[in-house]
Amino acid sequence: MNTNEYLMPTAAYIHIPFCRQRCFYCDFPIAVTGFQSLTLDGWVGEYVEAVCKEIAGQQYLGLPLSTVFFGGGTPSLLPIAGLEKILTTVDKHFGIATEAEISMEIDPGTFDQVQLQAYKNLGINRFSLGVQAFQDNLLTLCGRHHRRRDIDQAFTAIAKEDIKNWSLDLITGLPEQTAEDWHNSLNLALEAGPNHISCYDLVLEPQTVFDKWEQRGKLAVPPPERSADFYRHAQKALTQAGFHHYEISNYGRPGYQCRHNQIYWRNLPYYGFGMGATSYIDGKRFGRPRTRNGYYQWLNSWLNQGDKTPGETVSILENLLESLMLGLRLTAGVTWEQLPAISEDTKQTILNTLMSFGDRRWLEFYGRDNELLSPEKITTASVQRFCFSDPEGMLYSNQILSALFAALEED
Ligand code: SF4
Repeated sequence: MNTNEYLMPTAAYIHIPFCRQRCFYCDFPIAVTGFQSLTLDGWVGEYVEAVCKEIAGQQYLGLPLSTVFFGGGTPSLLPIAGLEKILTTVDKHFGIATEAEISMEIDPGTFDQVQLQAYKNLGINRFSLGVQAFQDNLLTLCGRHHRRRDIDQAFTAIAKEDIKNWSLDLITGLPEQTAEDWHNSLNLALEAGPNHISCYDLVLEPQTVFDKWEQRGKLAVPPPERSADFYRHAQKALTQAGFHHYEISNYGRPGYQCRHNQIYWRNLPYYGFGMGATSYIDGKRFGRPRTRNGYYQWLNSWLNQGDKTPGETVSILENLLESLMLGLRLTAGVTWEQLPAISEDTKQTILNTLMSFGDRRWLEFYGRDNELLSPEKITTASVQRFCFSDPEGMLYSNQILSALFAALEED
């Protein structure tokens, strides 16, 4: 049984919101800085102080952290002293386990080799590089601040520092992205030698520049069938190159899967700090205000109140839906034990709904000893684990999950 409400968090996400400009597809909680170098004087230092106060104010629940993730925003815009201050506060308050994974998102054009050395000296041991595309016309169209030359410089710095544990992020389905662009991006990504690659499909978030262009008919995103071909192409190229497709959007060589993100996908608890950050502690999920002022106001009142675990308790049904939605993102899928305790009837509802997609081979059901079960052998007792097929089931996961959610909400 997944008793995550009783488990203690061993992971912490820290949001560093600074970005030079807002990319046209982005709806993340960020603070736009422009192109000047940041210092800890003024508002940037104020944010670091606030995050440190939040960390120190969090109730210590008893276990050192095994993963810490600096996400953004663009954490590589924050001066080293700011990162050091936050990391020292985290270590002092929770303790960071010796073999912990400490990840940081970095963007081309915002760091050099000297900074990478400093990050390593702080103990940061995993880097996620936001390349997104290799073509300057696509980067410009997306409102990214970096260009191909910045990507090449980033690769050189990473190679000179002999960093092995790094990931390269790409986006598929960008406006005007051709099959040739995508093919070239995958090849160039592989040539750069990361041990982890993420391929995210573009999502048109409300109120973004892309969303507004789309509404005016001015956004030439590839049609869904071409995006699906991009997905199949990535799956084939990356798995043939020795990467394991372990999550819908993520590929890692053996030993390089992101440990922090797997906590989310397994619906396990984690701390979150900073504006817009979400935490999941004691069965309560909580999203902090997404603006700096909103965050500071919330922080001040939270520091002065008794209850140090904000948020609403996630209901049993929500917990089940989240465990399924997140767990099925993994190619390993889910076992009954990884779900909250559910009745035989609910298990049957899950299986019936999933099997209704059976003819299309979008799902796979496994029994004891990892035996792939044929449809006539699928029962609540025989099935130990179920997952989307890769890549076809993964491609249609939204459709399958919608049906599953509708069935469970009616149950
Ligand atoms: S760099 Fe990342 S977080 Fe910042 S605006 Fe662009 S997509 Fe959003």
